[in-house]
Amino acid sequence: MFADLHLHTSFSDGTYSPEELAAHAAAHGLTAVALTDHDTVEGCERMAAACALRQLEFIPGTELTAEHEGHELHLLAYFIDSTHPPFLRELERFQGVRQERIREIAARLNTLGVPLEAASVFSLANCSAPGRPHVARALVQHGHCGSLDEAFERYLKRNRPAWVPKVRMTAAAAIDLIHAAGGLAVLAHPGLNRLDAAIPALVASGLDGLECFHSKHSTAASAHYTEVAAEHSLLVTGGSDCHGMNKGQPLIGGIKLPYACVRAMKQRLPAPRSGR
Ligand code: AMP
Ligand code: FE
Ligand code: FE
Ligand code: ZN
Repeated sequence: MFADLHLHTSFSDGTYSPEELAAHAAAHGLTAVALTDHDTVEGCERMAAACALRQLEFIPGTELTAEHEGHELHLLAYFIDSTHPPFLRELERFQGVRQERIREIAARLNTLGVPLEAASVFSLANCSAPGRPHVARALVQHGHCGSLDEAFERYLKRNRPAWVPKVRMTAAAAIDLIHAAGGLAVLAHPGLNRLDAAIPALVASGLDGLECFHSKHSTAASAHYTEVAAEHSLLVTGGSDCHGMNKGQPLIGGIKLPYACVRAMKQRLPAPRSGR
């Protein structure tokens, strides 16, 4: 029995619908999946229904962008109550930040002589949490770039001319928010952000786990973070970070997390509060 706990749909920057994603999960023989769209839980209801049809266990989640001492990091939220009003309000605030950022990126592109309108990015993205991958797709679609990679390399990467930093909450605030919605907070792909030095502080803020297994982690990185997790009594999680066809090929099926890790997560969940 295996799980993939890091998946995106077209409710953020993935290309699969929840139904397509559930079909791929079933085809890869997964037992449990979590949906972790950036800054939104809007896909969770449809994903839950699509998983139920296929006897897949579904874990509601999201991926939040946060910062610790100026460094960006991503926090995965699992087993959250995806109807929790304060949580939804915060997500909406960050969706607004993303939309504003798209307008700023478009304005920068315009001053660089690239006539891309924010409206065409919004219509292509067709979701509440648009991001740079949508801008990249629009740049390719309108013939301004030959590929998504070129769009990031020329314009969208950090310190490239159309890069706009994202307004971020602190990691401690993100962890509190996740806990208030009844969820577990897991540091996403630590091997990509090289955040080892921040882990003790995140643990002190209540971090619950580390995403030890990820498509972009080497075998050595996975082993290293599994050790770090043990040192700090953190949960071990993993997922493919599949964005559908967005990054060339679908990554789902590439990470098969033993189901025992999901069991350990459930044991660490706070007891449900009365009235929920
Ligand atoms: P955003 O949340 O808008 O900052 O966009 C982040 C998304 O862009 C993540 O899903 C990244 O995987 C993706 N991304 C970042 N850099 C690149 C790149 N060079 N090529 C393709 N996708 C990228
Ligand atoms: Fe993404
Ligand atoms: Fe991420
Ligand atoms: Zn992700």
